[in-house]
Amino acid sequence: MKETVLEVKDLVTTFKSADGPLPAVRGASFSVKKGETLCIVGESGCGKSITALSIMGLLPSNGMIADGSIFFNQRNLAEMSPKQMQKVRGNEVSMIFQEPMTALNPVFTVGFQIREPLMIHLKLSKKQAHMRGIELLKMVGIPSPVERMNQFPHELSGGMRQRVMIAIALSCNPSLLIADEPTTALDVTIQAQIIDLLNDLKEQLDMSMIMITHDMGVVAEIADRVIVMYAGEIIEEGRVEEIFENPQHPYTKGLLASVPNVDDPEFDLKPIAGSMPMLNEQISGCRFHPRCPYAFDKCMEQSPKTFYVTDKQSVRCWLQEEGVEQNGGRRASSL
Ligand code: SF4
Repeated sequence: MKETVLEVKDLVTTFKSADGPLPAVRGASFSVKKGETLCIVGESGCGKSITALSIMGLLPSNGMIADGSIFFNQRNLAEMSPKQMQKVRGNEVSMIFQEPMTALNPVFTVGFQIREPLMIHLKLSKKQAHMRGIELLKMVGIPSPVERMNQFPHELSGGMRQRVMIAIALSCNPSLLIADEPTTALDVTIQAQIIDLLNDLKEQLDMSMIMITHDMGVVAEIADRVIVMYAGEIIEEGRVEEIFENPQHPYTKGLLASVPNVDDPEFDLKPIAGSMPMLNEQISGCRFHPRCPYAFDKCMEQSPKTFYVTDKQSVRCWLQEEGVEQNGGRRASSL
């Protein structure tokens, strides 16, 4: 069995507000094994990006890890000081973001930005870092890498900028790469190229990856395992084939039904009705119940337990409880 690289347990991340702490992540637990790609999916505001920022120690100043642990290679990142986290970040764990233009510094050349982590973390000389930078640009498929080192981010296309971000993220051979919607700002052809590139590099470098996305098409392309988040909670988890072939949670089914199927002209696209609750919204019982077509009385009163469908697939939904009709869609009388 492959070793566990990351183990997140009962993670609670909150934001300060005048009304008290608002939980954005509510007790998330999951792990990532060496060489594995875990996709975290859900709509905007479900807590997936906040989970990633909690791991990276990059929460905004009003955010904090209120509870839980984040063990990465046997050290608890949740207890590290900002200084200790600086050594881990960009070195052992790296992250790429949705919009490379905001992550890259517009006033410095590509060369400056790629040399920096190599000189800080790996203690390479400027010359060594420059040569390694050229190699890294080559590795991520950037043509004319020697010339690119002297260019500024605005002189590159969106796809090239994302490749530069990937090169910087991989510069210190991290064992875990977190990619937060890395293709959302790119056009479709470039999206596919970046996904292929990430897949190839992950294999080549034998690293683990967490891909954060709302796009089930990306999940199908890249995931080994999938976590579905809703309103700060993990509501389903399983191997990618389990999630696509046998989804159990009504929200997961809704996500899959809202993806266009280009191969099937008859496919009936069904968006999920309603919207994600605000952080300060008090919802009793299952947090999905106001949007769930299957909700029944218990859903409004008690938060669902985790039920295991297989040894790898789990779901938080009362429909899994013995004796509850699974397919009938019993609407609660009060809905
Ligand atoms: Fe729907 Fe109830 Fe399951 Fe929540 S617990 S997803 S409301 S059926």
